[in-house]
Amino acid sequence: MLRNRWDMWRYAALLPLRDGEEPVSLGEGATPLLESRELAQQLGVGRLWIKDEGLNPTGSFKARGMSAAVTRAKALGVPGLVVPTAGNAGAALTAYGAAARLPVRVYAPETTPRGILATIRALGAELCTVPGHIGDAGAKAKAFAAESGYFDVSTLREPYRIEGKKTMGLELAEQMEWRLPSVIVYPTGGGTGLIGMWKGFAELREMGWLDPKAPLPRMVTAQAEGCAPIVRAFAEHADRARPWENPTTHASGLRVPGPLGDRLILRALYESSGVAVAVSEAAIRAGTARIDRTTGIDAAPEGGCALAVVEALAASGQVGPQDEVVVFNTGSGVAYRE
Ligand SMILES: *Cc1c(COP(=O)(O)O)cnc(C)c1O
Repeated sequence: MLRNRWDMWRYAALLPLRDGEEPVSLGEGATPLLESRELAQQLGVGRLWIKDEGLNPTGSFKARGMSAAVTRAKALGVPGLVVPTAGNAGAALTAYGAAARLPVRVYAPETTPRGILATIRALGAELCTVPGHIGDAGAKAKAFAAESGYFDVSTLREPYRIEGKKTMGLELAEQMEWRLPSVIVYPTGGGTGLIGMWKGFAELREMGWLDPKAPLPRMVTAQAEGCAPIVRAFAEHADRARPWENPTTHASGLRVPGPLGDRLILRALYESSGVAVAVSEAAIRAGTARIDRTTGIDAAPEGGCALAVVEALAASGQVGPQDEVVVFNTGSGVAYRE
């Protein structure tokens, strides 16, 4: 199954790529899985690793999904690409659009971190900032796609980004020598990373790359208290999430008040005996600083949120010395600095 290349297209056999087709690639994926004995000890868990997705092109795991989506869009002969974004998806689409020589338009809230907006401009997309949150940007992107014929790369409105994102799960399994940790903590906005990994694990199991008798990891959604639609739905044992009113958090990737994939996210949490936990802005800042200063990884606030959730779960006894925990740092801290 494995191709001899060191990016996510190593798993091309499980990705939407036709025979003989070249992917639109910037070397996405193949990110390090770094163990921190010190963090494990501090938090009271057996072992703890950070999967550092901040090392992807344009500094976030969004690169994986955009590499897959732009590869298909180019093959389909689209005239251009459009996306609404909380920031990183727009930067990633801009880069892959440039690599594919396709025009890109990005709709982003004006509150998007300035470093990310600067990247989008530098790599040559047409950037439209809008008042409000990603939902407001989504309406604009949809209208523009309808009038222009541009391919709308919005989260879960097309099938390919999730295929790219599932490679986080495939890669994790390979890095752990075809077994998985007992707990995966993932900072959840639109949820495609979590849904994609869950899909990837099912595929690996079906193909015999994972022991069918070994339990799959408990999937944990980490959110900010200022925007926690999945945490609220999980607490209500609901199968859908109600949109969050007035979403606020400095972890901009988590400012997604009405995720389209709510049912799929919740299903993965329930099926895996996982949980959804929200933490405060102060806890997110402390978690980010803790990753940075304990490990040297330059974490995004979303990664800090995930670590803060491990801390909360350890404090309530929901994870402990028996657990092997993988925390996803989904982006680089660089883009969030003023
Ligand atoms: C988009 C984003 C998220 C949320 O990811 P989903 O898979 O859509 O839930 C988390 N962290 C960062 C840095 C992001 O850019």
